[in-house]
Amino acid sequence: MQEQLELTLVGAGLAGSLLATYLARRGFKVTIYERRPDLRKERVSGGRSINLALANRGIAALKQVGLFAEVEKLLIPMRGRMLHLLDGQLSFQPYGKKASEVIYSVSRARLNGLMLTAAESTGSVTVHFAQQCIGFNCEDGKLQLVDTLKGRPYTIKAGPIIATDGAGSPIRHAMIEQLDIDSVEDVLPHAYKELTIPASSNGSHRMEPNALHIWPRGGYMLIALPNLDGTFTATLFLPREGETSFDKLDSHSALLAFFRREFPDALDLMPNFAREFFLNPVGTLATVRCNAWHDEGRALLLGDAAHAIVPFHGQGMNCAFEDCAALDACIERFGTRWDQTFGEFESLRKPNAEAIADMALENYVEMRDSVQHREFHLKKELGWLLEDRYPGVFIPRYSMVMFHHIPYADAQRRGAIQQSILDELCTDIDDMHQVNLTRADELVNERLLDA
Ligand code: FAD
Repeated sequence: MQEQLELTLVGAGLAGSLLATYLARRGFKVTIYERRPDLRKERVSGGRSINLALANRGIAALKQVGLFAEVEKLLIPMRGRMLHLLDGQLSFQPYGKKASEVIYSVSRARLNGLMLTAAESTGSVTVHFAQQCIGFNCEDGKLQLVDTLKGRPYTIKAGPIIATDGAGSPIRHAMIEQLDIDSVEDVLPHAYKELTIPASSNGSHRMEPNALHIWPRGGYMLIALPNLDGTFTATLFLPREGETSFDKLDSHSALLAFFRREFPDALDLMPNFAREFFLNPVGTLATVRCNAWHDEGRALLLGDAAHAIVPFHGQGMNCAFEDCAALDACIERFGTRWDQTFGEFESLRKPNAEAIADMALENYVEMRDSVQHREFHLKKELGWLLEDRYPGVFIPRYSMVMFHHIPYADAQRRGAIQQSILDELCTDIDDMHQVNLTRADELVNERLLDA
């Protein structure tokens, strides 16, 4: 009985550290093996991103285990996008019509640290840091690890394993090799690099802090999210190769010329960024689509290990947090009949993970390009008008994803119908006064009301 209640997690990142608290509250004894040293004690480099956007789905999962009140102290609300146009003009686009429709910038390290401390303070969670998983035997359930401080490899026999070991998951790779599982890793031809916009001399932010800043330039973009210390973390998204690419920014002069041409106002805010640019790695962006997430009752993939997505909808972490709440609900239903619990989790979450993976890819085009065009704004305005006119029926897709708990797959499906309505109503018009509201009523009734 005692043995049944033990669970092993691999990876104490965002999903693993939150999931541990969920499991501890259900009475499990949880052991986590984490490749990195304890990020609360040492500065851990090579992270995925310095700060992230937290939205409603993530917040709901944090609330469910009573962590949100503490997390809230780390948050900076972002009420919309602040577009930095090439001519130097700024244009603010709110995310939604309601005051509550905001997303929040949060430090990855501080959030992760807070969740680790919360998990440990349950008294049921032990985290072994600097222990890297290097293999998993699906047949006998043995986990191969290396103590990276002592360079000592060892094997443990673990109970059910939950792989929260991120996009490059070694457990997923072991499952692919040993079981009949297919997985595709679509690497985006675009990559990213992070830079810092320093605080002003009095420690305040040098741009509007309550916004997500975007420099949309068609084929690429720069974005910046605020940090509590007055800095911003800027991220340049650019093709790896080609005419305008990371490959071409291989000298100080090429880099400065590029920033002077494309992001002159950002350059003014970070005059000494070149050193950081050449020191920081170029990060890979990929979508992982894996056709099975569990090995009967022995192992389960969760979070990025199961379904890494590109970051353009700001949903990877939010989706991983929603996974934690969903697994908890499956445990409530099936208990320690792990094959059923894991199977139910996979069938509930997989269609939703596939939907957000697609929507995240689409949102890259929206952020780097569409936001610059008039037609996009007309449809956005009209979307809000229809939201007021048909409350609870027409909800802009961005809002469904960011501010509601509508399953991602439903948001995608309803979003496509809504898009067809907006496309039709916006054909041959160029301002809101020309919208045919009688036709809008017909279209909503025909296509959306019973969808
Ligand atoms: P991770 O957070 O990556 O955690 C995996 C953990 O496993 C790590 O601690 C790692 O050290 C450990 N690990 C890995 N391999 C091993 C091993 N062999 N042995 C033991 N431990 C191991 N999401 C959002 O919701 N909003 C955003 O704004 C956002 N912005 C992003 C920006 C960028 C540039 C990127 C790349 C991602 C962004 N994401 C965002 C996505 C988000 O980072 C991920 O979805 C989230 O981190 C997933 O959590 P996870 O725990 O599954 O994986």
